[in-house]
Amino acid sequence: MAARRDKGMMSRSYRVYLNDLNQGKQEVLKAFLHRCHDIMQYFVDLYWRRQDFRGKLADLSTAHRAVKRFGATTRLSQALAKQGGEVVASQRKRIKKRKPNLQRQVVTLFYHFVSVEPFRGNGFNWAVRFTGSGAPKGLTVPIPSTKPLNEKLADGWNLRQTIRLGMRKGRLFIDLLLEKKRPTPKTEGRVVGMDSNYKNGLVFSDGQNVGTELYHLIQGFAKRQKHTRAEIKSWLGQAIKQIDFSQIKVLVIEDLKKVKSGKRGTFSRRFNRRLSHWLYAYAASLLQRHCEVKGIEVQRKDPWKTSQRCYACGKWDRRNRRGDRFLCVNCNHADHADFNASKNLEYLGLAGIYGFRLLPSSRCQSFE
Ligand SMILES: [Zn+2]
Repeated sequence: MAARRDKGMMSRSYRVYLNDLNQGKQEVLKAFLHRCHDIMQYFVDLYWRRQDFRGKLADLSTAHRAVKRFGATTRLSQALAKQGGEVVASQRKRIKKRKPNLQRQVVTLFYHFVSVEPFRGNGFNWAVRFTGSGAPKGLTVPIPSTKPLNEKLADGWNLRQTIRLGMRKGRLFIDLLLEKKRPTPKTEGRVVGMDSNYKNGLVFSDGQNVGTELYHLIQGFAKRQKHTRAEIKSWLGQAIKQIDFSQIKVLVIEDLKKVKSGKRGTFSRRFNRRLSHWLYAYAASLLQRHCEVKGIEVQRKDPWKTSQRCYACGKWDRRNRRGDRFLCVNCNHADHADFNASKNLEYLGLAGIYGFRLLPSSRCQSFE
């Protein structure tokens, strides 16, 4: 759902599944969520019929349609009209616009509907109270405090008085939303490229290399694919914590839109290409978050030729790359293939260009 677009603030969400909430409360919340979903779908249909892609606050007569039709409060109608409108607005930039289908059951509830408060008792440290305006008034959901949440709060993040209520595979959840002021961008440090193919982990052009055991880890997972992604996620999170960001000012990575899904296929036999693409996407999003809180800029570049170009002499040739090894047929420079690619990404960052296609000729000089 649309995040608040305040450029001065960073935002994160923290998901809590309500498995332990008593059944009565769960039923009330599920019924409320279904109702919100129906009303939102009604507004999606309405805005779609009107071909209204502005995603603006609904005028009163539009909002009142749900008051009449569903008996909802004006406030709830207004909030759901806005969220339905934003779903339709998400099609604005598409050339072929398609009517969005609301598959996800999730609703954003502002401070009119809920409050998020400290709560003492039985290991719960937070409580989401539903306060009315159309939400189930008087219902309280205790939220257990956990280490990751406490760490965020100790680190200067604040809980917002807005939540998301949703359901996934039949399980109710609440997303607590955190925000923190964005740090000033770093001015000291290096421009560093990062490449990865999961055989060698994450390889940085300043010489750092983390996550080298991932390949073996994934091979070990091959027989029980079910838990793979969750375990890789937590493992990747640990690996990224080992990176020393202190000397980095700009991190340059591949633009995912340009990464062909087959390119990272070193696991094609046991794992589909989708997984290796997913891995890269997940690593990139983790890096992006880490960099954001440290004031490090992340640049995404076209990966075209970054694995075939020799960073030492600037020439490229497809024969240069042989699996993990890089050996330049022009200048005989030998290197690790991923390190060479990370140096090329660094080059693009230093040169301030999006990709090697944009250079006038296939010969481009190195910075060194
Ligand atoms: Zn060379």
